[in-house]
Amino acid sequence: MLLNPLTFHAPKTVEEAIELYSTLGEVRLLAGGTFLLNSLKLLKKRGIKTPQHVISLRKISVLQGVKVTGDTLTIGAMTVINDLFSSPHLTDNFAILRTVCRNISTNPIRNMATVGGNLTSRYTWTEMGAPLIALEAVMHFCGTNHTTESITVEDFFKNFAKTEKILTHITIRRDPAAALAYQRVKKLSDVDVPLLAVCIRTHFNDGCFTRTRASINCTTSFAKRDLVLEEFLNGKKTANGIAQEALAHLDTSIYDTRSDDYKKSMFRISIKKAIEDLTRRGQT
Ligand SMILES: Cc1cc2nc3c(=O)[nH]c(=O)nc-3n(C[C@H](O)[C@H](O)[C@H](O)COP(=O)(O)OP(=O)(O)OC[C@H]3O[C@@H](n4cnc5c(N)ncnc54)[C@H](O)[C@@H]3O)c2cc1C
Repeated sequence: MLLNPLTFHAPKTVEEAIELYSTLGEVRLLAGGTFLLNSLKLLKKRGIKTPQHVISLRKISVLQGVKVTGDTLTIGAMTVINDLFSSPHLTDNFAILRTVCRNISTNPIRNMATVGGNLTSRYTWTEMGAPLIALEAVMHFCGTNHTTESITVEDFFKNFAKTEKILTHITIRRDPAAALAYQRVKKLSDVDVPLLAVCIRTHFNDGCFTRTRASINCTTSFAKRDLVLEEFLNGKKTANGIAQEALAHLDTSIYDTRSDDYKKSMFRISIKKAIEDLTRRGQT
């Protein structure tokens, strides 16, 4: 199916993109296009009006790439998943992102889909949210009149991932002492989308879990922290059996909403595996 006629804009700077975005009516931003183009076709099929203008961010070079400055990792919003995966900068706590990227969909999608599109597309199941919450990542936006705004990924998802601005980049602080574990279960075997994802970050202090962050993507609502689990783990010894014990200390509202028995069971298995993984590392 062909798209409805539209005017395609391809600015080369963020300033130009902001100017267009704030002055044109009926406009949508285009990143990798893996969701947007399909959704415009769906709107057309349903007889719903589609936007007259599309602004592609692809030619804005400052929005692309991964770099490290001092102790901060910066990921441009237009960085495609495969480029993040192969970045040599993914060391220390950043390294968990390689595992996350590797699990996303298929190679053709990973070559087109961007980190920014993954975060801002407002699909509850896309999976960059949980690890970036665990990493205490911050999203940086540019809005009308070139105002900038920074918000933690955690707060962005608390606010239902709503934005009228252009996401320019994401920053994460290096933390060599952090240990992270990521578990993800896929939903289908043919088109790979996640059923759930769990990311736990902790530090070991005197053989105990400290400053733990457990972020969960239940895929039916946006990624969020399980504060009950965090509270249970913090201060506990990294002893065998702690993972099993932790399963009695979960914020059940996250896991029970729109979950069948299979999904609930996979949550428990994933959380247990993540804690066991961290426990092993804490004991060495
Ligand atoms: C078949 C298929 C399988 C997939 N499987 C997975 C999976 O397993 N795991 C997973 O996590 N994801 C998966 N995805 C999602 C994918 O990773 C991308 O997140 C998603 O397709 C959108 O990224 P995009 O760059 O193509 O964005 P686009 O489709 O171009 O844009 C999506 C939306 O985000 C907005 N947007 C994009 N960039 C910005 C920006 N910089 N600032 C403000 N708004 C912006 C656009 O306006 C648009 O509304 C899958 C997608 C497909 C099509």
